[in-house]
Amino acid sequence: MTGKVLILGGTGEARRLAEALVAEDVEVLSTLAGRIADPVLPPGEVRVGGFGGAAGLAAWLGATPVAAAVDATHPFAATMTASAAAAAEHTGTPLLRLQRPGWAPGPGDDWRWVDSLAGAADAVAGFGSVFLTTGRQGLAAFAGLTARCLVRSVDPPAPPLPGRTTVVLARGPFTVEEELAVMRQHGVEVLVTKDSGGAMTAAKLTAARELGLPVVLVRRPPLPAGLAVVGTVDEALAWVRAQPG
Ligand code: NAP
Repeated sequence: MTGKVLILGGTGEARRLAEALVAEDVEVLSTLAGRIADPVLPPGEVRVGGFGGAAGLAAWLGATPVAAAVDATHPFAATMTASAAAAAEHTGTPLLRLQRPGWAPGPGDDWRWVDSLAGAADAVAGFGSVFLTTGRQGLAAFAGLTARCLVRSVDPPAPPLPGRTTVVLARGPFTVEEELAVMRQHGVEVLVTKDSGGAMTAAKLTAARELGLPVVLVRRPPLPAGLAVVGTVDEALAWVRAQPG
């Protein structure tokens, strides 16, 4: 690979892919949405901020041709993933989606699957104390809850929030012991999470299992049809190495 590789980032996988490619002397440009005030930056060139939808990204790719692109954004970054697929098709840019596998329940888990944050709000309506770990965006879906809500996010969430919200600002990963402590301290009765997958944020699921708490999981949005998808950084590396550019 002699040309530049574009990595649409914001995940640990994106950062590890950038590290591996830079170590192989591949020219890498990582992009971040710019939502987090103090992000952990990958090595190589970094661009912060959106492109202006699929048309904006297509125009950007027209002016800044890349040999290949890897969409390594979060499994729930559906708008970016759709834009990347459309812009790549429009410009003929080889595109791979790197998306870690989702979580699967183990013995003793009480997992309740829903399709959206609104569905999650409905699913927790009968509980007195809810732990919301879905990130600070989209909390408006829970604004109507009357339960005590514990919200954990990296940066402070913006209103509207549930009326009885306690905010904990923290950046993971957390250990199972830390998750057990926060759940016990706040008397959590149900955990809400997106099906983000991966080990980084899985300790809360183990803690919920140990405490016998139900978990409401938001299913991933579907991927654009025809998109090449891999689940690991190693597979993405192999794909990049195999690109002609
Ligand atoms: P989204 O809804 O799909 O993206 C919204 C807009 O943000 C996109 O249309 C794009 O703006 C811009 N954008 C998103 N990712 C970008 C990237 N890597 N580089 C440049 N622009 C980007 O995504 P989101 O849910 O807001 O997530 C934003 C970022 O946070 C992503 O990088 C994602 O990997 C990371 N993240 C998301 C979650 C989550 O739960 N959603 C969790 C952890 C990390 P334009 O249309 O202007 O191009």
